[in-house]
Amino acid sequence: MSDKSVTYYKDSLDIPDTVRTMQTVHGHNFEEPFYICDLSEIVNKFIMWKRILPRIIPYYAVKCNTYAPLLTMLAELGIGFDCASGNEIVKIQALGVLPNRIVFANPVKRTSELLYARKHGIKRMTFDNECELHRVKKLFPDAELILRIRCDAKKAWFRGLGEKYGCDPKIEAFELIQSALSLNMKVIGISFHVGSGCLDYGTYFKAIATARKIFDLSEKIGNRMTLLDIGGGFISDVQAFSEVAKVINQALSTFFPSNDVTVIAEPGRYFASAAFTLVTKVINVKEARNNGKPSFAYTINCGIHAGFRYLLFGRKLTRPEVIRETNEEKYKCTIWGPTCDPADKLYEDIRLPKLQVDDVLIFRNFGAYSTVLATNFNGFEMAEIKPYLNVKHENLNQQTEWDRQTIIQ
Ligand code: PLP
Repeated sequence: MSDKSVTYYKDSLDIPDTVRTMQTVHGHNFEEPFYICDLSEIVNKFIMWKRILPRIIPYYAVKCNTYAPLLTMLAELGIGFDCASGNEIVKIQALGVLPNRIVFANPVKRTSELLYARKHGIKRMTFDNECELHRVKKLFPDAELILRIRCDAKKAWFRGLGEKYGCDPKIEAFELIQSALSLNMKVIGISFHVGSGCLDYGTYFKAIATARKIFDLSEKIGNRMTLLDIGGGFISDVQAFSEVAKVINQALSTFFPSNDVTVIAEPGRYFASAAFTLVTKVINVKEARNNGKPSFAYTINCGIHAGFRYLLFGRKLTRPEVIRETNEEKYKCTIWGPTCDPADKLYEDIRLPKLQVDDVLIFRNFGAYSTVLATNFNGFEMAEIKPYLNVKHENLNQQTEWDRQTIIQ
């Protein structure tokens, strides 16, 4: 990673002010929802990562958000990529990223994908079971295997990865390494994923300690591993990230003090989240009275089958911000998406000022698992993404015209 060519200007975009200008100066009607993508936030996150987790090389988890300018920017910044499918690999290769900056981090890969990886020299890949091991042996015997172990955080925004992926670290891990060696396959390291939006930082410590034990057992049978992949799960909030980084750095200096083990991570949410703000508007207001107290049901023009789809996976949303100046009184309300599906309910029992039709609501930190999960259900358009860049980078010069004016028009 190199940051010598990056200049970062701290003043990121004032989104409420930009939206107000769109309304008042340009008469924008906000008929369709859209995202504002402030790409300078990505550089911001890159610089924070390098400062706080200097030993760990990030491999961006492409699945989280595949917006082309975001991928281009990350590629230009020199980080690596975690690809979960052949198509993701193709996308990243198209940016000029070389095989040594890609890890194929899906423990179960299709035949065509393994053959593609072999043809293009994408050697590093995860696995967690015997069946995959034998398939890789047959289709890509030179692959460099990373064994994924299970280590689940008790508290995370999105849990459940461990139910599907990651072998039992106590017995199965060692057995799988033995099997791989008996097949003459290379096992170069250990990976795990504690859960997305991990709030239980000690899990990283525990997982790194567990990985150390497996490194030691593996070395005892003559297989010295050189790679530790601590997966994703990081929240992009500065304080949360600083706290988790402290725990991780401490675990690394305790269990992997020497630099002969390369440490990588697969952050998705960390890079994509803060760069995106979803801009929506209220299209209907219904009033109800419960014991004389008014409450409101609002419908907005984006819902669970579009940008809010990750609600289906149990993720709690941050509160919307109302762009118009409102009086302080707040009322209980429900917010619905625009489709005919009764499951298209975004909020229940939150308190907001009284809204009107055409009021604009913005949702910040909306770049993770939003655009990639959106559908056209009920015939609604995909939300457009309007890029903004307030960063100078020698390889990104052609993109610096993405100024505030580009969004406003
Ligand atoms: N790596 C793997 C294997 C994943 O499955 C995921 C997310 O599901 C990620 C990385 C990215 O996780 P996050 O966005 O929480 O950083």
